[in-house]
Amino acid sequence: MQVSVADSAGFCSGVKRALKIARATIDRGGPVHMLGEIVHNESVLSDIAEAGVRSIMRLGDGRGKSLLICAHGVPARKICDARRRGYRIIDATCPMVKQIHRLALELERVGRRVIVIGDSEHDEVKGIVGQLKKRAIVVSGIRDARGKTLRRLGKAGVVVQSTQALSHVMRIVEELKKRVPDLKFHNTICSPTRSKQREMASMPLRNDVMIIIGSKTSANTRRLYQISKSLNPRTYRVKSKAEIDPRWFRHARTAGVGAGASTPDHITREVVDYLAEVGVRT
Ligand code: SF4
Repeated sequence: MQVSVADSAGFCSGVKRALKIARATIDRGGPVHMLGEIVHNESVLSDIAEAGVRSIMRLGDGRGKSLLICAHGVPARKICDARRRGYRIIDATCPMVKQIHRLALELERVGRRVIVIGDSEHDEVKGIVGQLKKRAIVVSGIRDARGKTLRRLGKAGVVVQSTQALSHVMRIVEELKKRVPDLKFHNTICSPTRSKQREMASMPLRNDVMIIIGSKTSANTRRLYQISKSLNPRTYRVKSKAEIDPRWFRHARTAGVGAGASTPDHITREVVDYLAEVGVRT
Protein backbone atom coordinates (compact mmCIF):
# COMPACT_ATOMS: atom_id res chain seq x y z
CA MET A 1 0.00 0.00 0.00
CA GLN A 2 1.33 3.39 -0.96
CA VAL A 3 1.03 5.99 1.79
CA SER A 4 1.16 9.72 1.09
CA VAL A 5 1.01 12.58 3.59
CA ALA A 6 -0.57 15.98 2.87
CA ASP A 7 2.11 18.71 2.51
CA SER A 8 0.09 20.90 4.86
CA ALA A 9 -0.37 18.21 7.56
CA GLY A 10 0.31 19.21 11.15
CA PHE A 11 1.08 22.37 13.11
CA CYS A 12 0.11 25.67 11.49
CA SER A 13 2.28 28.77 11.91
CA GLY A 14 0.03 30.08 14.73
CA VAL A 15 0.38 26.92 16.80
CA LYS A 16 4.16 26.75 16.23
CA ARG A 17 4.47 30.35 17.35
CA ALA A 18 2.31 29.82 20.45
CA LEU A 19 4.36 26.80 21.51
CA LYS A 20 7.61 28.70 20.99
CA ILE A 21 6.31 31.53 23.17
CA ALA A 22 5.16 29.00 25.81
CA ARG A 23 8.62 27.35 25.91
CA ALA A 24 10.41 30.71 26.14
CA THR A 25 8.13 31.71 29.04
CA ILE A 26 8.82 28.45 30.88
CA ASP A 27 12.58 28.95 30.37
CA ARG A 28 12.40 32.39 31.98
CA GLY A 29 11.26 30.69 35.19
CA GLY A 30 8.43 31.41 37.65
CA PRO A 31 4.89 29.99 37.63
CA VAL A 32 3.17 29.98 34.25
CA HIS A 33 -0.60 29.67 34.00
CA MET A 34 -2.61 29.14 30.87
CA LEU A 35 -6.24 30.00 30.40
CA GLY A 36 -7.93 27.03 28.71
CA GLU A 37 -5.96 25.02 26.17
CA ILE A 38 -3.02 26.43 24.22
CA VAL A 39 -4.02 24.15 21.33
CA HIS A 40 -6.69 21.48 21.13
CA ASN A 41 -4.44 18.43 21.32
CA GLU A 42 -4.05 16.13 24.34
CA SER A 43 -0.47 15.14 23.56
CA VAL A 44 0.70 18.76 23.22
CA LEU A 45 -1.18 19.74 26.38
CA SER A 46 0.41 16.98 28.44
CA ASP A 47 3.91 17.98 27.16
CA ILE A 48 3.22 21.59 28.14
CA ALA A 49 1.87 20.54 31.55
CA GLU A 50 4.95 18.40 32.15
CA ALA A 51 7.14 21.38 31.30
CA GLY A 52 5.42 23.29 34.12
CA VAL A 53 2.47 25.19 32.64
CA ARG A 54 -0.67 24.97 34.76
CA SER A 55 -3.94 25.06 32.88
CA ILE A 56 -6.60 27.06 34.74
CA MET A 57 -10.25 27.63 33.96
CA ARG A 58 -10.65 30.73 36.18
CA LEU A 59 -8.35 33.59 37.02
CA GLY A 60 -7.04 33.72 40.58
CA ASP A 61 -4.44 35.82 42.32
CA GLY A 62 -1.96 36.58 39.55
CA ARG A 63 0.85 38.18 41.52
CA GLY A 64 4.23 36.82 40.38
CA LYS A 65 2.62 34.63 37.72
CA SER A 66 2.70 34.72 33.93
CA LEU A 67 -0.54 34.12 32.07
CA LEU A 68 -0.25 32.58 28.65
CA ILE A 69 -2.96 33.59 26.18
CA CYS A 70 -3.56 30.77 23.69
CA ALA A 71 -3.37 30.95 19.87
CA HIS A 72 -7.16 31.31 19.60
CA GLY A 73 -7.17 34.54 21.63
CA VAL A 74 -9.52 35.56 24.47
CA PRO A 75 -12.14 38.29 25.02
CA ALA A 76 -10.59 41.72 25.79
CA ARG A 77 -12.19 41.85 29.27
CA LYS A 78 -10.35 38.67 30.29
CA ILE A 79 -7.01 40.37 29.63
CA CYS A 80 -8.08 43.46 31.61
CA ASP A 81 -9.25 41.25 34.47
CA ALA A 82 -5.99 39.27 34.44
CA ARG A 83 -3.90 42.47 34.52
CA ARG A 84 -5.96 43.77 37.43
CA ARG A 85 -5.26 40.58 39.33
CA GLY A 86 -1.53 41.05 38.83
CA TYR A 87 -0.75 38.53 36.07
CA ARG A 88 2.01 39.26 33.60
CA ILE A 89 0.32 38.71 30.21
CA ILE A 90 2.15 36.61 27.62
CA ASP A 91 0.07 36.95 24.51
CA ALA A 92 0.45 34.00 22.12
CA THR A 93 -2.68 34.89 20.13
CA CYS A 94 -2.05 34.01 16.47
CA PRO A 95 -1.39 37.15 14.37
CA MET A 96 -4.07 35.95 11.92
CA VAL A 97 -6.63 35.85 14.75
CA LYS A 98 -5.51 39.34 15.82
CA GLN A 99 -6.20 40.48 12.28
CA ILE A 100 -9.77 39.17 12.59
CA HIS A 101 -10.11 41.16 15.86
CA ARG A 102 -8.93 44.30 14.05
CA LEU A 103 -11.33 43.81 11.14
CA ALA A 104 -14.28 43.18 13.48
CA LEU A 105 -13.45 46.31 15.49
CA GLU A 106 -13.19 48.34 12.30
CA LEU A 107 -16.58 47.08 11.09
CA GLU A 108 -18.07 48.11 14.42
CA ARG A 109 -16.33 51.49 14.33
CA VAL A 110 -17.91 52.36 10.98
CA GLY A 111 -21.38 51.47 12.28
CA ARG A 112 -21.88 47.96 10.94
CA ARG A 113 -23.34 45.19 13.08
CA VAL A 114 -20.72 42.42 13.23
CA ILE A 115 -21.65 38.91 12.14
CA VAL A 116 -19.18 36.13 12.95
CA ILE A 117 -19.45 32.93 10.93
CA GLY A 118 -18.19 30.16 13.22
CA ASP A 119 -18.91 27.84 16.13
CA SER A 120 -20.38 29.92 18.97
CA GLU A 121 -18.77 27.68 21.61
CA HIS A 122 -15.27 27.84 20.14
CA ASP A 123 -12.64 29.90 22.03
CA GLU A 124 -11.66 31.80 18.90
CA VAL A 125 -15.24 32.92 18.25
CA LYS A 126 -15.70 33.91 21.90
CA GLY A 127 -12.48 35.90 21.62
CA ILE A 128 -13.65 37.74 18.48
CA VAL A 129 -17.07 38.50 19.96
CA GLY A 130 -15.37 39.63 23.16
CA GLN A 131 -13.45 42.42 21.41
CA LEU A 132 -16.62 44.32 20.57
CA LYS A 133 -18.78 46.78 22.44
CA LYS A 134 -22.04 45.73 20.79
CA ARG A 135 -23.20 42.13 20.82
CA ALA A 136 -22.05 40.36 17.66
CA ILE A 137 -24.28 37.84 15.89
CA VAL A 138 -22.73 34.38 15.59
CA VAL A 139 -23.93 32.36 12.62
CA SER A 140 -22.85 28.76 12.54
CA GLY A 141 -25.08 27.37 9.82
CA ILE A 142 -27.70 28.11 7.17
CA ARG A 143 -30.51 27.95 9.74
CA ASP A 144 -28.92 30.77 11.78
CA ALA A 145 -28.46 32.79 8.59
CA ARG A 146 -32.21 32.61 8.01
CA GLY A 147 -32.93 33.91 11.52
CA LYS A 148 -35.36 36.76 12.16
CA THR A 149 -32.82 39.14 13.76
CA LEU A 150 -30.90 39.33 10.52
CA ARG A 151 -33.85 40.67 8.57
CA ARG A 152 -33.85 43.79 10.72
CA LEU A 153 -30.22 44.64 9.97
CA GLY A 154 -29.74 47.23 7.31
CA LYS A 155 -25.99 47.21 7.38
CA ALA A 156 -23.61 44.55 8.66
CA GLY A 157 -20.10 43.21 8.29
CA VAL A 158 -18.95 39.60 8.31
CA VAL A 159 -15.77 38.01 9.62
CA VAL A 160 -15.11 34.29 9.71
CA GLN A 161 -13.56 31.94 12.30
CA SER A 162 -10.14 31.15 10.81
CA THR A 163 -10.68 27.41 10.45
CA GLN A 164 -14.11 27.31 8.79
CA ALA A 165 -14.65 25.44 5.51
CA LEU A 166 -14.82 27.83 2.57
CA SER A 167 -17.78 26.14 0.81
CA HIS A 168 -19.82 26.24 4.05
CA VAL A 169 -18.98 29.92 4.58
CA MET A 170 -19.90 30.89 1.03
CA ARG A 171 -23.31 29.18 1.34
CA ILE A 172 -23.98 31.19 4.51
CA VAL A 173 -22.82 34.44 2.93
CA GLU A 174 -25.22 33.91 0.00
CA GLU A 175 -28.08 33.50 2.51
CA LEU A 176 -26.99 36.60 4.44
CA LYS A 177 -26.92 38.67 1.25
CA LYS A 178 -30.62 37.91 0.72
CA ARG A 179 -31.43 39.42 4.14
CA VAL A 180 -28.93 42.19 4.74
CA PRO A 181 -29.02 44.86 2.02
CA ASP A 182 -25.60 46.36 2.83
CA LEU A 183 -23.24 43.52 3.68
CA LYS A 184 -19.45 43.78 3.83
CA PHE A 185 -17.70 40.41 3.80
CA HIS A 186 -14.15 39.72 5.01
CA ASN A 187 -13.04 36.20 4.28
CA THR A 188 -10.80 35.63 7.29
CA ILE A 189 -10.19 31.90 6.85
CA CYS A 190 -6.43 31.80 7.49
CA SER A 191 -3.89 30.76 4.84
CA PRO A 192 -2.76 27.53 6.59
CA THR A 193 -6.41 26.43 6.78
CA ARG A 194 -6.93 27.25 3.11
CA SER A 195 -3.88 25.15 2.13
CA LYS A 196 -5.13 22.22 4.18
CA GLN A 197 -8.61 22.44 2.69
CA ARG A 198 -7.23 22.77 -0.85
CA GLU A 199 -5.29 19.55 -0.40
CA MET A 200 -8.35 17.85 1.09
CA ALA A 201 -10.35 18.75 -2.01
CA SER A 202 -8.26 16.37 -4.15
CA MET A 203 -6.34 13.95 -1.93
CA PRO A 204 -9.39 11.85 -0.92
CA LEU A 205 -10.19 11.33 -4.62
CA ARG A 206 -6.70 9.96 -5.32
CA ASN A 207 -6.57 7.56 -2.39
CA ASP A 208 -8.53 4.43 -1.50
CA VAL A 209 -8.50 5.24 2.23
CA MET A 210 -7.99 8.54 4.06
CA ILE A 211 -6.79 8.95 7.64
CA ILE A 212 -7.22 12.32 9.31
CA ILE A 213 -5.23 12.73 12.53
CA GLY A 214 -6.22 15.08 15.32
CA SER A 215 -8.00 15.46 18.60
CA LYS A 216 -11.79 15.20 18.85
CA THR A 217 -11.71 18.70 20.35
CA SER A 218 -9.92 20.18 17.33
CA ALA A 219 -12.41 22.06 15.14
CA ASN A 220 -10.10 22.26 12.14
CA THR A 221 -9.44 18.50 12.25
CA ARG A 222 -13.18 17.89 12.29
CA ARG A 223 -13.57 20.11 9.24
CA LEU A 224 -10.82 18.29 7.32
CA TYR A 225 -12.47 15.01 8.22
CA GLN A 226 -15.87 16.23 6.97
CA ILE A 227 -14.43 17.46 3.66
CA SER A 228 -12.54 14.22 3.12
CA LYS A 229 -15.49 12.04 4.13
CA SER A 230 -17.79 13.85 1.68
CA LEU A 231 -15.40 12.90 -1.14
CA ASN A 232 -14.27 9.50 0.07
CA PRO A 233 -16.49 7.42 2.39
CA ARG A 234 -13.43 5.41 3.48
CA THR A 235 -12.22 8.34 5.59
CA TYR A 236 -11.38 7.80 9.26
CA ARG A 237 -10.46 10.24 12.01
CA VAL A 238 -7.98 9.11 14.65
CA LYS A 239 -6.09 10.67 17.54
CA SER A 240 -3.10 8.37 17.09
CA LYS A 241 -2.07 5.05 15.57
CA ALA A 242 -3.69 3.23 18.51
CA GLU A 243 -7.14 3.99 17.07
CA ILE A 244 -6.43 2.58 13.62
CA ASP A 245 -8.22 -0.61 12.65
CA PRO A 246 -6.22 -2.60 10.04
CA ARG A 247 -9.49 -3.86 8.53
CA TRP A 248 -10.10 -0.36 7.13
CA PHE A 249 -7.37 -1.06 4.55
CA ARG A 250 -8.69 -4.27 3.05
CA HIS A 251 -7.85 -4.30 -0.70
CA ALA A 252 -6.59 -0.71 -0.45
CA ARG A 253 -3.66 0.16 -2.69
CA THR A 254 -3.26 3.74 -1.54
CA ALA A 255 -3.79 5.63 1.73
CA GLY A 256 -3.66 9.38 2.24
CA VAL A 257 -2.89 11.05 5.56
CA GLY A 258 -3.98 14.50 6.66
CA ALA A 259 -3.49 16.10 10.09
CA GLY A 260 -5.08 19.06 11.85
CA ALA A 261 -3.27 22.27 12.77
CA SER A 262 -2.70 21.08 16.35
CA THR A 263 -1.40 17.58 15.56
CA PRO A 264 2.30 17.11 16.40
CA ASP A 265 4.53 15.71 13.62
CA HIS A 266 5.69 12.76 15.72
CA ILE A 267 2.09 11.45 15.91
CA THR A 268 1.75 11.74 12.13
CA ARG A 269 5.07 9.91 11.65
CA GLU A 270 3.94 7.10 13.94
CA VAL A 271 0.72 6.74 11.94
CA VAL A 272 2.61 6.67 8.64
CA ASP A 273 5.04 4.02 9.93
CA TYR A 274 2.14 1.97 11.21
CA LEU A 275 0.30 2.23 7.87
CA ALA A 276 3.40 1.04 6.04
CA GLU A 277 3.32 -2.05 8.28
CA VAL A 278 -0.44 -2.57 7.83
CA GLY A 279 0.03 -2.29 4.06
CA VAL A 280 2.47 -5.19 4.10
CA ARG A 281 0.02 -7.29 6.11
CA THR A 282 -3.16 -6.66 4.06
S1 SF4 B 1 -5.41 27.81 12.36
FE1 SF4 B 1 -4.82 29.72 11.36
S2 SF4 B 1 -5.58 31.35 12.68
FE2 SF4 B 1 -5.64 29.46 13.89
S3 SF4 B 1 -3.70 29.43 14.96
FE3 SF4 B 1 -3.36 28.32 13.05
S4 SF4 B 1 -2.60 29.89 11.59
FE4 SF4 B 1 -3.51 30.94 13.33
